[in-house]
Amino acid sequence: MPEQNLRISKNVDLSSFATMHVSAKAKTLIEIDSLEDLIQALHEIKREEANFLILGGGSNVLFVNDFDGVILNINLRGIEILEETDEQVLLKVAAGENWHELVLYCVSNGWGGIENLALIPGKVGAAPIQNIGAYGVELSQVLVDVEALMIESMTLETFSNEECKFGYRESIFKSDLKGKTVITSITIALSKNHTPNTEYGALKSLLSAKGIENPTIKDVCDTVIEVRESKLPDPSELGNNGSFFKNPVIDVFLFNELKKKYKDLPGYPVTEHLVKVPAGWLIDTAGWKGYRKGDAGVHEKQALVLVNYGNASGAQIYKLSEAIKQDIHQKFGIELEREVNIV
Ligand SMILES: Cc1cc2nc3c(=O)[nH]c(=O)nc-3n(C[C@H](O)[C@H](O)[C@H](O)COP(=O)(O)OP(=O)(O)OC[C@H]3O[C@@H](n4cnc5c(N)ncnc54)[C@H](O)[C@@H]3O)c2cc1C
Repeated sequence: MPEQNLRISKNVDLSSFATMHVSAKAKTLIEIDSLEDLIQALHEIKREEANFLILGGGSNVLFVNDFDGVILNINLRGIEILEETDEQVLLKVAAGENWHELVLYCVSNGWGGIENLALIPGKVGAAPIQNIGAYGVELSQVLVDVEALMIESMTLETFSNEECKFGYRESIFKSDLKGKTVITSITIALSKNHTPNTEYGALKSLLSAKGIENPTIKDVCDTVIEVRESKLPDPSELGNNGSFFKNPVIDVFLFNELKKKYKDLPGYPVTEHLVKVPAGWLIDTAGWKGYRKGDAGVHEKQALVLVNYGNASGAQIYKLSEAIKQDIHQKFGIELEREVNIV
């Protein structure tokens, strides 16, 4: 691969590029600082028929093997106000911006809509991939469109909110377009007179414990950060990927059967026939919370979070996730699906 212009590293240790901090090597890693870099790198990848992976902050990726190909580390930067009225602001944000810093920037400007999504690690470009969500809010609620480079044609295309086919931790970029696009920016619409969503249990309780009746977006942002810091391990201190599994959506018939045996099984209706069940509750009830084998474990406060206590390999974490999946299937008849991308 010609080295002019591109920032290329060889035989790269990936432990600091992904938040589970497992050790794995990439044959090649290219820092993508501009659209030109991206296009040039993709041309080279095509020419060499190399395997490649687009990487943001690595908070939703688990490396279980060395990567025998090219990793494109997306660093595209820039936040642009496309339009501003008395009511709202339209922001175009480049894929390499840090998500949490974007939230803080918007909150400090009084622009509401993403304050509940504070402290989610990672970069902006990955946010639409699984339609990030937390504390009752999903990205899809503010997203106007996504700009992406189509890898085959090398053209930029814009996908409207509807075209993104958002669902719970889902989008077209994870399904039909998986591996076919690189997201370069997103546009979001934020409100200047926003009424924050404070319905989510833990958020509501802490706001009320603090005596805040009519919270501002800053109150909500600060409180979300407080709740998250009390519940979730900080990846810079303890390797993890946040929620390792999605919350399964099950048939109401199975839910009612399980409810006879497990009286406190929580369930949230999705449709008349489907109920969403917290994966964390299932894993906790099955007795996995605090489990540890070697350096691979299940977090002691949050059963949905698998952790690396130091030197666990990606394969060991994966093996643990497999054992949990099998156990949940055996005990509850429910198939857990991983939220984390296994590489
Ligand atoms: C402590 C912790 C808490 C978390 N809490 C939440 C939460 O509350 N809600 C939630 O939804 N998620 C949560 N996550 C998961 C994760 O933070 C999000 O999924 C985040 O959006 C991933 O961003 P990233 O930049 O790290 O993506 P990466 O992990 O780098 O990539 C994720 C996937 O997106 C692809 N990708 C990345 N960037 C691009 C791009 N520009 N174009 C095309 N494909 C791309 C990658 O190939 C990979 O398949 C949490 C993770 C951790 C570690």
